[in-house]
Amino acid sequence: MTYTLRQRLIETARAMNASGLNHGTAGNLSVRHEDGMLITPSGMDYATISPDDIVWMHFDGAQRGARKPSSEWRFHAAIYRRRPEANAVLHAHPVSCTALACLGTGIPAFHYMVAVAGGNNIRCADYATFGTPELSEHVLRALEDRKACLMANHGLTCFEKDLAGALALAIEVEHLATVYGRILAISEAEILTDNEMDIVLEKFKRYGVQDQ
Ligand code: 13P
Ligand code: ZN
Repeated sequence: MTYTLRQRLIETARAMNASGLNHGTAGNLSVRHEDGMLITPSGMDYATISPDDIVWMHFDGAQRGARKPSSEWRFHAAIYRRRPEANAVLHAHPVSCTALACLGTGIPAFHYMVAVAGGNNIRCADYATFGTPELSEHVLRALEDRKACLMANHGLTCFEKDLAGALALAIEVEHLATVYGRILAISEAEILTDNEMDIVLEKFKRYGVQDQ
């Protein structure tokens, strides 16, 4: 079971790079497991890692495994602790999300699909050095009532109930960031009202559910 989960984690990390969402050894990925998480090792190429390179960590930092865990293990752990619905956490440096994050701007409700992240905007977490407890605090705040946030001068973090969901959410947020960035290069976007977004958020509770 653990071995399969480790393999799935690696496959999702590889898919994250193959989809164009991430590159090189940037980014990291984890999945909740037992009373901790399985997380990608720090600075290793996803193309060459094997299940034994994946690190198991308790949320307090205790670890099992030969490799050093991702330098961002703190905010992964903080998300699992704070958000019981989170089972997979993805962090990447996608081009469009990172470009907006370097402007210090999040993504407003310029398009109804912004609701995929859980609310009427996608916030940008304040900057802090990678790997620090300060960054965890900023990320947790930006994720309040949301499943995704940008990170100033850094990238994107999101979570979902499973690995496939986290990857799909990241791809959607990067798409939104690409379109929003294009709009900003031309002019300003028309922003949907909170009332319109509430309607979408309500509809999203049933969107894609085929068995009712
Ligand atoms: P790791 O290789 O340590 O996971 O770090 C990559 C990264 O994106 C840091 O923010
Ligand atoms: Zn990063």
